[in-house]
Amino acid sequence: MCGASGEQLCRPCRDGLPRLRPPLCERCGAPTAWPVARCRECSGRRLAFSSARAAVVYDDSVRRLVSAWKERGLRRLAAEAADLVAATVPAPSVAALAYVPADRARALSRGHHPAESLACGLGERWSLPVLPLVQRERSVPRQRGQTLADRRRNVAGAFAPAAEPPPTVALVDDVYTSGATAAAAASALRSGGARRVEIVTFARVVR
Ligand SMILES: [Zn+2]
Ligand SMILES: [Zn+2]
Repeated sequence: MCGASGEQLCRPCRDGLPRLRPPLCERCGAPTAWPVARCRECSGRRLAFSSARAAVVYDDSVRRLVSAWKERGLRRLAAEAADLVAATVPAPSVAALAYVPADRARALSRGHHPAESLACGLGERWSLPVLPLVQRERSVPRQRGQTLADRRRNVAGAFAPAAEPPPTVALVDDVYTSGATAAAAASALRSGGARRVEIVTFARVVR
């Protein structure tokens, strides 16, 4: 964000965001040279979701945008993020949207939850109900700087179903980093009875 239009994203900044476009890995959504069913990042991994899609690459400009959205709770940015996702990611064919729930300790200090506000924005744009289907079982240590194995260990069992989910659900989060959080939350939905879970995020780390 350059600040040219206050708290909004100005046109050049919005147009300059690194959109994720096909070809992508069909499963994890990583950009690939041609369409593939599995890629180097996800092959051999057991993932509870069937696909993951995001609007933009999590680069430095997007990192600044997401932290402004998170830390300051800018409502306008939640709407911008929902617009970008709806313009980039095909609407999932699912019965409902859910979101990765806030970590209570961190949510309280912030009083705002990006995944939930993004899910609500997408629910309006895609005409899908947004349901609180996942809950936190425990707080997860900050994941920054951890290896993939550490991240998986950290989030395993961190979520539980909060209500009986419909057979198909798209789970919304702000950023897809290693897929460990998405997989753990999707796994809670699957254990609650969902047959297929798709992941939709605003941004995705690209290795
Ligand atoms: Zn700008
Ligand atoms: Zn993949």
